[in-house]
Amino acid sequence: MSVFISGATGFIAQHIVGQLLEQDYKVIASARNETKANELSKNFNNSNLTVVVTGDISKLDAFDSAFKQYGSEIKYVIHAASPVLFEVESTEKDILIPAVNGTKGILESIKKYAANTVERIVMTSSVAALSTYPESLDPKAVANEDSWNTYTWESAQISGGNAYFGSKKFAERYLWDFLEENKDNLKIKATTVMPVFVFGPQMFDSSVKPKLNLSCEVINSLIHTPIDGEISPMLGKFIHVKDVAKAHVLAMQRDDLIGKRLIVSEDNFNSQDILNYLNEDFPVLKGKIPVGNPDQSAEGKPSKDITYDNSRSRELLGFKFRSLKEAIDDTAAQVLKHEGRI
Ligand code: NDP
Repeated sequence: MSVFISGATGFIAQHIVGQLLEQDYKVIASARNETKANELSKNFNNSNLTVVVTGDISKLDAFDSAFKQYGSEIKYVIHAASPVLFEVESTEKDILIPAVNGTKGILESIKKYAANTVERIVMTSSVAALSTYPESLDPKAVANEDSWNTYTWESAQISGGNAYFGSKKFAERYLWDFLEENKDNLKIKATTVMPVFVFGPQMFDSSVKPKLNLSCEVINSLIHTPIDGEISPMLGKFIHVKDVAKAHVLAMQRDDLIGKRLIVSEDNFNSQDILNYLNEDFPVLKGKIPVGNPDQSAEGKPSKDITYDNSRSRELLGFKFRSLKEAIDDTAAQVLKHEGRI
């Protein structure tokens, strides 16, 4: 039996595909278009991987042909496709609709063509589903696995950031509500994974571009900030991409994770932490990027923004997450190697 993974060309999903193939699963991976599908097949070069094309997931029938063709062999579904963008022309058309329709579409395709075969679905949600944007900057705010943000479809349209937070809640809620409404005729059990900022290397060096995916770009932009340049202030929590991928695979495999919302977050970081590791660990960057104020780090200190209390998720998952040093160094080393600087 196979695993179907949506948005497989994405930063996180490629690592999930990699871990699934390492464990000898047969994987059916979806890409937005033919060019991206071909590149993914070529990079993995693995006979256990089949890549299908969905087009834009805003179309409710985007997943129909894949499930019509392969539904009878799909036991697990990992739904990772969703827009990860803040700067858009239309918050509704470019963020909210694809996120929600992608989730509706994949669930309807499963119901139509794979109701008897799919047993588990793991969806990539986000801590964005847990809190509102301004609240997430408040050091007194705490969210945990039971929290939901308060965005409405209207308030989510005010800005790209609001729309992203709203999109993650609406899509995840749709999943839980759909399974509840269909519990008498579908045997599917779900788990959601809610990462914070995901750092780490791209699965393949060829994916290193001048601008990286939204979360890794936080590190990439500091690697390329001149010594007298302005440091873009950044404060948040991080997790290594390999740990996010591992959490998805475990969520798919382990019965004790059924019905859970898993927050994957290791520690606080800010721009200064990133500069500190870049300056300490990459001599080639010394004198080229800002030093900042090395004492103003956030790692291991009380949170200056929202606290995501993920003690339940950590205990359930039961493995140690990688450190900030590893997440930053893995990201930076790949970029600097690609640029021929190390
Ligand atoms: P990427 O942008 O790298 O991956 C997103 C994937 O979704 C890509 O395959 C993309 O296809 C696909 N996709 C997006 N919109 C559409 C669309 N309209 N039609 C078809 N395909 C679409 O982001 P990440 O890997 O970082 O994110 C993956 C998931 O993880 C998302 O659900 C995101 O919300 C979640 N997440 C990410 C975090 C992070 O820090 N990176 C933190 C928390 C959650 P294409 O390549 O063609 O654009």
